[in-house]
Amino acid sequence: MFLHNKRMMYTVRVDAPNPMFAKMLLEQFGGPNGELAAAMRYFTQGWNEPDAQRRSMLLDIATEELSHLEMVAQSLHLLLKGSPAELVDQVEGNYLGDLLNGKMPDYVNLSLNSGPNLLGGGGPRLTDSMGAPWTAAYIDTIGQPAADLRSNIAAEARAKITYERLTKVCDDAGLKDTLNFLMSREVAHQKMFEAALDSLASNFPPGTLAGDEALNHAYFQDAASYGTEGATDEAAGFDLVQQNSQWGFELDQNPAAHAAQEPTP
Ligand code: MN
Ligand code: MN
Repeated sequence: MFLHNKRMMYTVRVDAPNPMFAKMLLEQFGGPNGELAAAMRYFTQGWNEPDAQRRSMLLDIATEELSHLEMVAQSLHLLLKGSPAELVDQVEGNYLGDLLNGKMPDYVNLSLNSGPNLLGGGGPRLTDSMGAPWTAAYIDTIGQPAADLRSNIAAEARAKITYERLTKVCDDAGLKDTLNFLMSREVAHQKMFEAALDSLASNFPPGTLAGDEALNHAYFQDAASYGTEGATDEAAGFDLVQQNSQWGFELDQNPAAHAAQEPTP
């Protein structure tokens, strides 16, 4: 059961309408890294999670993401006040070209937002900023905690970066404050998923089959250059992983040689 507490999680402030920014903010409403995708990601994972602690955390975060969706919807509503829906009413029955006469900004808004205006009546629709409809394909859950928690960490990182980019192009002080709250909460979620990943007794590699130990630690150098002189950067990738990993790698400069080996049971 969900009970709707009509107070926002955080007070949403928008100082002035801005249909163009609303179009960009749709990315966090119905986009791949947006709040609906986040809520559905954790909600569905929570139902499939046998561990009581992880299930509790997933459903808490899923519920908070719905609260974020509510805040983004409120922001969109405030940004769309005075939006093309109302501009259309102003010019109804008149020659649209009249808008070009000294009203270029209105005309630009009207033309760029005509799709959302036609179908949404000036309200937010479940699309990304380019108008692509929301899809469950945004959710890449595989049903295994070590894999899904890593994917959740990456999803929270993308959500944080999207809010960061929106903030950098936002000149509305009230909205910046709202965006900063939402961005900060995604940082908190990322930390929670990192903690849950650390709590797993064994989280790498994900799953129950260990694989071949030698292959698990082999670095395949899959690039070779011929006829060049001097040093090349062919081993740069190997150097990177060898110097920075906890596992240690063996450099394998002839990956094709594995084809000559007998299969291992
Ligand atoms: Mn969120
Ligand atoms: Mn989040």
